Amino acid sequence: MSDSLFADASKRLQTAMKYASISEDAVERLKYPKASLSVSIPVRMDNGTLQVFQGYRVRYDDTRGPGKGGVRYHPNVSLDEVQSLAFWMTFKCAVLNLPFGGAKGGITVDPKALSKLELERLSRGYVDAIADFIGPDVDILAPDVYTNAMIMGWMMDQYSIIRRQISPAVVTGKPLTMGGSVGRDGATATGAFFAIEAIMPKFDQLPSQTTVAIQGFGKAGSVMAELLARAGYKVVAVSDSQGGIYAKKGLDIPSIRQYKAMGNGITALYCKNTVCNIVEHEILSNQDLLALDVDILIPAALENQITEANVNDIKAKYIFEVANGPITSEADKVLEAKGIYVFPDILVNAGGVTVSYFEWVQNRSGLYWTIEEVNQRLKQKMIEETERIWSISQELAISMRTAAYVHALNRLGEALNAKGTRDYYINGRIS
Ligand code: GLU
Repeated sequence: MSDSLFADASKRLQTAMKYASISEDAVERLKYPKASLSVSIPVRMDNGTLQVFQGYRVRYDDTRGPGKGGVRYHPNVSLDEVQSLAFWMTFKCAVLNLPFGGAKGGITVDPKALSKLELERLSRGYVDAIADFIGPDVDILAPDVYTNAMIMGWMMDQYSIIRRQISPAVVTGKPLTMGGSVGRDGATATGAFFAIEAIMPKFDQLPSQTTVAIQGFGKAGSVMAELLARAGYKVVAVSDSQGGIYAKKGLDIPSIRQYKAMGNGITALYCKNTVCNIVEHEILSNQDLLALDVDILIPAALENQITEANVNDIKAKYIFEVANGPITSEADKVLEAKGIYVFPDILVNAGGVTVSYFEWVQNRSGLYWTIEEVNQRLKQKMIEETERIWSISQELAISMRTAAYVHALNRLGEALNAKGTRDYYINGRIS
């Protein structure tokens, strides 16, 4: 594997640019983040001590619109990771044709170790530190791993205090009472479900004959499991960070979700119960889950899960990436050679940012939509772009991942050209 997550992520450009209508100069520009901010966030802890946390916000590209992307709270957050996530957001927004560029943020913290008040002070402190770097027309925040609507509400409130004006459109994924959109909570999973439903008939794969394993039982993975089970798919394995469970005949997803929800940690924020405590099923590790002989494998946790080290164990026929960056570029090559279809993150998990866009639109117009309107528009966008990328991959005989990047690069190239020639001089002449 290459030395950094970001170096590995940007390798995908090299492969895709051969097929895209975009100049080499424009691709060269897209290899680097536009701006990266590192901040220190001092937080008064409940016991009176002061602790300083590291935070980041990266605006990768804003050619197609203001930066857009979530904020992650995790002990492993680093600038390298945030840059990679911001890179993926750029391509994700272009794939879905959202009028946004790509951005991402994060704080290096184990949020499960903080009290609710400490978490609030940290979230407000983060916004204090990055306030000049964000804005409804500059860079818009959203939830990501271990952040949620409550945290987005605090962030929006803090920004509004700083600006002395209510600014709902600076953050998406807010509570409904603060300008959130219906359907945003389950949007990543709902969007991924629409992508799966668009793809599987192409392989004549009926839900009742399709087994599924899902790694990750957070906001995306657990809702995904429920949607698939309800549609008749056989969800045989799920896992969380502690490990997983397996049942050949299929799992009872609603009761597993209920069980996880019972273990509320700090005021309904992080579930303490692990799926491993559900003893009537076979227990398996996350590595075992990835290696199961199932039809569909859904990595819905973190990046770098399928690497050169375990790619040869993978037996699934189709992989839908609900997490960002779960497969390294080296592992991708092996999967392709093995004939395993990979449906990429920048398409499959784009439902979250798509409904974030809907929320931003609603905040700016002041007119709020029904759940039917939100889901109908989400479905239309997901199916339209899935079909386009499928056609590109068929026409050019390339993987769905490369096709998704080609599709995004074409849109980015068009936007860069439309901006004019000011930036492009070759040997003293305008190119
Ligand atoms: N964090 C989500 C993602 O990775 C959503 C981003 C957003 O809504 O802006 O796509």
